[in-house]
Amino acid sequence: MKNMTLENIAAACGGEIYCMREELAQETAKGIVIDSRQIEPGYIFVATKGERVDGHQFIPDVFAKGAMAVICEVLPKEDLGPCILVKDSFMALKQAAAFYRQQLNIRVVGITGSVGKTSTKEFVASVLSEKYKVHKTAGNYNNEVGLPLTIFGIQEDDQIAVLEMGINTFGEMHRLSEVAKPDICVMTNIGQCHLENLIDRDGILRAKSEIFDFMNPKGTVVVNGDDDKLATIHEVYGKAPVTFGMNKQNAIWADHIENRGLLGSCADIHMGDDVVHAIIPLPGEHMIYNAMAAAAVALQFGMSKEEIAAGISHVEAVAGRSHLVEAGDKVIIDDCYNANPVSMKAAIDLLATAPGRKVAILGDMFELGENEKAMHGEVGAYAAEKGIDLILCVGELSESMYQEAVGSGGNAKYYETREALEAVLNEILQQGDTVLVKASHSMAFENLVKCIQVNQ
Ligand code: ATP
Ligand code: MG
Repeated sequence: MKNMTLENIAAACGGEIYCMREELAQETAKGIVIDSRQIEPGYIFVATKGERVDGHQFIPDVFAKGAMAVICEVLPKEDLGPCILVKDSFMALKQAAAFYRQQLNIRVVGITGSVGKTSTKEFVASVLSEKYKVHKTAGNYNNEVGLPLTIFGIQEDDQIAVLEMGINTFGEMHRLSEVAKPDICVMTNIGQCHLENLIDRDGILRAKSEIFDFMNPKGTVVVNGDDDKLATIHEVYGKAPVTFGMNKQNAIWADHIENRGLLGSCADIHMGDDVVHAIIPLPGEHMIYNAMAAAAVALQFGMSKEEIAAGISHVEAVAGRSHLVEAGDKVIIDDCYNANPVSMKAAIDLLATAPGRKVAILGDMFELGENEKAMHGEVGAYAAEKGIDLILCVGELSESMYQEAVGSGGNAKYYETREALEAVLNEILQQGDTVLVKASHSMAFENLVKCIQVNQ
């Protein structure tokens, strides 16, 4: 890792080096991790105190595996190897990542928004990879721990890093921005997630806009211009954002949309005088927005419309996010990774395009604030109105979803727990069903997906 000597890292995190080995003075770290199982010779281990486990207990272990040094808040009792003593390991993780990012000759695309960050990250990375060597956030490593770890994974020959940046509260994005120092900031939309801390959509907009705090002032902001809140961003560092959306007023816009159901969609994406006929292989018309965001970013990197079209058509689904899984004679729309009212409705729209009987297994959505019951109810009514044949509502909050589904004429059933549904699920499902599985992450709906799969 370029310039990541112990001395430089200690300086970056305001730490003090103990038990130095002189032969390591010029050496650079081969990797930096917080999971002791990922240690390889030459790596640095950052010992963090988590809710359940204190990483300091693994210090002897990581030295035994050949770690170059550890960053820690408490020194081991004996001299096991070099240690950088810091006040706060999580802070040190960010400071070291911010330093490393500055050593690299790389351009950073930071992606935030309420929904669609991971999907947009996949589109942006897929398109940019047609021309550049790209490093992207693995999975959903988008927070104050995940972002630094993602940055440590950047190789010296990578040209662009595409980083997902996610937050729950004010101040977090400010810190993420300081670590990532984005050259291009992409904002997907301002929805209704994390209302508990951020109060309302204006609060969310303000919190997400902290991404500009440390962005390259010569950089570019790319926003969904169809989003009423994002459309209020007129200028950042004296420059108007590049907008995308269905509306023709946007710099990048789309028409001739053909919804191919579970196969995805096709659309003409207009970029000034150019048009890209895009084949978007992921289901859901919201993916067209993510493809447009990728086109907008690609233009900033001087890519051709052929490269953009190719990159969009090569994007791959991520497990748990509108991922189609064939399970014998059934198709599962595995969207169990997360849920909020906007993404629930988008997923219901998608299910509505499926052939055969349409079954929605919908569970609790968390962190919605005081209107949570009404929001669950709305989703239930929406599913009924969209003609979903069977709506299975799971979890405490989803009782109001069930009630509103029935109230809107839907065929719905209610289960207090996931386990209760699991016990009867395979009796309920029929041959040829398309089954949407979606809830907040902690509902562990991936178990329902497995349950359907193993019974085939
Ligand atoms: P998280 O906050 O969990 O990281 P995220 O912002 O990364 O979420 P994704 O994982 O990409 O979002 O998508 C979440 C859900 O929203 C999925 O169901 C996906 O199909 C849907 N989705 C993706 N893109 C959009 C979009 N542009 N608008 C609305 N829904 C979207
Ligand atoms: Mg995500």
